[in-house]
Amino acid sequence: MTGGCLCGTVRYELQSAPFDAGWCHCRICQLNSGSPAMAFASVKDGDWLTTQGSDAIRTVQSSDFGHRGFCGQCGTPLYMKVDHQPETVDFSITTLDEPAKVAPGFHIFWGSRVPWFNPGDTLPRHEKFRPDTRGLEGTDPPA
Ligand SMILES: [Zn+2]
Ligand SMILES: [Zn+2]
Repeated sequence: MTGGCLCGTVRYELQSAPFDAGWCHCRICQLNSGSPAMAFASVKDGDWLTTQGSDAIRTVQSSDFGHRGFCGQCGTPLYMKVDHQPETVDFSITTLDEPAKVAPGFHIFWGSRVPWFNPGDTLPRHEKFRPDTRGLEGTDPPA
């Protein structure tokens, strides 16, 4: 699968099939995207590979436990890395050329959902992280 940013500067390719696709309604995703929620999926670290424009990618420390990469030309949010999951990288599903191919399977941080945003799905809804989140004890963000 391939994808890229709004302005076309950054292009990437997935080296393996994405997994753990889901919606995140946390405040950081809301601010980072300018939208009520973001849809992410994971691949093995290194399998989200830029094929063009890697020098245009800027990163921001988005929390105590993670950072995000975005296109420095157009601002499109591209990926997220969290310390408790060094073996994977999360990417923004909607930046895929064919985002319809990777469907979210759950909601996390439903507790900070913007109330007027009501997804009409029946996916599991978790107040914070999922109870079985890799690399975490419990459902709270790492302190
Ligand atoms: Zn761009
Ligand atoms: Zn989030």
